[in-house]
Amino acid sequence: IQSRLPHVGTTIFSIMSALAQQHGAVNLGQGFPDFDCDPALVEAVHQAMRAGHNQYPPMSGVPALRQAIAAKMEALYGHRYDSDREITVTAGATQALLSALLAIVHPGDEVIVLEPCYDAYGPAIELAGGRVVRVKLKPESYRPDLPAIAAALTPRTRALMINTPHNPSGRIWPAEDLQALSDLLAGTEVLVISDEVYEHMVFDGQQHQSAARFPGLAARSFVVSSFGKTYHVTGWKVGYVAAPAALTAEFRKIHQFNVFTVNTPMQHGLADYLREARHYLDLPAFYQRKRDRFREGLALTRLRLLPCEGTYFQCVDYSGVSAAEGMAPEECCRWLTQEIGVAAIPLSAFYAEPGEDRLIRFCFAKKDETLQSALDKLRRL
Ligand code: PMP
Ligand code: GLN
Repeated sequence: IQSRLPHVGTTIFSIMSALAQQHGAVNLGQGFPDFDCDPALVEAVHQAMRAGHNQYPPMSGVPALRQAIAAKMEALYGHRYDSDREITVTAGATQALLSALLAIVHPGDEVIVLEPCYDAYGPAIELAGGRVVRVKLKPESYRPDLPAIAAALTPRTRALMINTPHNPSGRIWPAEDLQALSDLLAGTEVLVISDEVYEHMVFDGQQHQSAARFPGLAARSFVVSSFGKTYHVTGWKVGYVAAPAALTAEFRKIHQFNVFTVNTPMQHGLADYLREARHYLDLPAFYQRKRDRFREGLALTRLRLLPCEGTYFQCVDYSGVSAAEGMAPEECCRWLTQEIGVAAIPLSAFYAEPGEDRLIRFCFAKKDETLQSALDKLRRL
């Protein structure tokens, strides 16, 4: 059969997790917690099952959950989404991103992505019939390069995909960047897909700058998030998309024939749990502590730390590790997994063309003892 995605293999996250398992390595590759979620959340889901919430929910999602999402977004970002017409519950952020692209991209349309970017974006654009236009983020800061984005805009540009807090760099964008993007797109028809799955993981007292905060962006954006990250339940695959009614109407035309709807008891459980703001407001301190301890340990190794302002990813430069000299990032990650016993993700997986960078990413959403065990191994480098 002729492949729809001829140049696509298996995602690096699956590859590195399998390799970690095969070699019994500490898995700091794929981004997921190795600790459990709050038992109260599990109880809320059980409660929903016992209460008989086990059949199809409305196509757009359980109303109580959509209302809770709208209330949270208004409280945090000051934009009021209509929970009936502007919020849709999705099977994780991945489905939200693909469905949004399928809803808006016509064959031959261009969609701009900012590299390095999450590996799902490119194939999703191609499946929607679009052409991927790659613009690099600024070196070092991983902030948007406004002149480069402006230069990439053409009459065929349908959308721009953005992501802050940023996977893989762990950097965040300040308000001025979102305002500048808003100004740049003013007067164009370009839509924005804003991937904000790490919205609640921002450190050092900084604030997440959601596209929803900026009226000029909110009016043209699909704001995508995921409960997997926020509540330590990546396997539940429940996320959502908030977008103006006209965009949401098109989104739902796709959504209804893609998954139709998302599992009912999880939605009820999450709706109950989401009413407590404490859970997501506690998250920055929780992960900041892990980040700090992990960074302290890494500072004693030959790896050079890059800044980490958000997400649960820490990037390092391994060019000071003589045993890894000459190794490309993916090769280095395989070697680290097999020989040192710690799995990581190469940043090269987030680019179409390999560069000269010697950067890899560790996930620190792990128990303290897991991080310690990884640090003990990395000290030997
Ligand atoms: N976007 C980014 C930037 C991510 O890192 C991830 C997953 N970790 C996703 C989207 C997908 O999220 P989900 O698991 O909810 O599909
Ligand atoms: N988003 C997670 C990461 O960046 C993993 C998601 C996946 O396995 N596809 O590690």
